[in-house]
Amino acid sequence: MYYFDPHIHMVSRTTDDYETLARMGCVGMSEPAFWAGFDRGSADSFRDYFRQLTQFEKSRAEQSCVQHFTWLCINAKEAENVELSREVIKIIPEFLDLPGVLGIGEIGLNKNTKNEATIFLEHLDLAVDYNQQILIHTPHLEDKYPGTRMILDMLCGDQRLDHHRVLVDHVEEHTIRVVLDRGFWAGMTLYPVSKCTPARAADMVEMYGPERLLVNSAGDWGPSKPTAVPDFIMEMRKRGHSEATIRRVVYENPLEFFGQSDNFNFTPPELPETV
Ligand SMILES: [Zn+2]
Repeated sequence: MYYFDPHIHMVSRTTDDYETLARMGCVGMSEPAFWAGFDRGSADSFRDYFRQLTQFEKSRAEQSCVQHFTWLCINAKEAENVELSREVIKIIPEFLDLPGVLGIGEIGLNKNTKNEATIFLEHLDLAVDYNQQILIHTPHLEDKYPGTRMILDMLCGDQRLDHHRVLVDHVEEHTIRVVLDRGFWAGMTLYPVSKCTPARAADMVEMYGPERLLVNSAGDWGPSKPTAVPDFIMEMRKRGHSEATIRRVVYENPLEFFGQSDNFNFTPPELPETV
């Protein structure tokens, strides 16, 4: 089955990973800007990172017949540095008209601090000023529930935002309902050490239905599995779900959400599909 991974950090992965993903049916992916594992020292580091995302990763993906899209921001962890964050936010518009740039993300909260919230709100201004979609990172473990509530309060307090153009990622059983009830899209991240497993993601599809739900691998530099979406497909098949339901979650939903961006120039594969 063809699928689209809506949240994966390919800067952390090898060219072999691109090949493996393509062989497993991945035809497209979107890569949000994130924390590199260390705090960067200057805004110029981010400019180079944005060039890497918009140019280098795009061409590397194309060599494996995978279509690559990206999102730009300063991540929640480095957003603690307000001065640096404001310099980075000033750079972002240079890149927003490039092919494949879908919007602002992944913005959010890390430790739910005042500085993180300040920069989150300034990213919302940027998204509104440039009519961009938004991809949200919600915090981990014990910070997830209060952080998700803080994020939703900030999003819902901004009357300028169209909730259908916002994806709230890393939802789990205790945060998914509140995200969907407010009209946002929700992303489930399949992760070996925290977040969600393929079985738990399948449970949530069974509980809430496939509408506005996405599944991603987040494949990054930490313990993660870039081929986790095919694991979810297998889990759904083993439970007897129809190919149409599975395809909706792993292919049609990402295309519907991303298709709201003018820069989403995705070409659906033409060859007959193999299962
Ligand atoms: Zn991420």
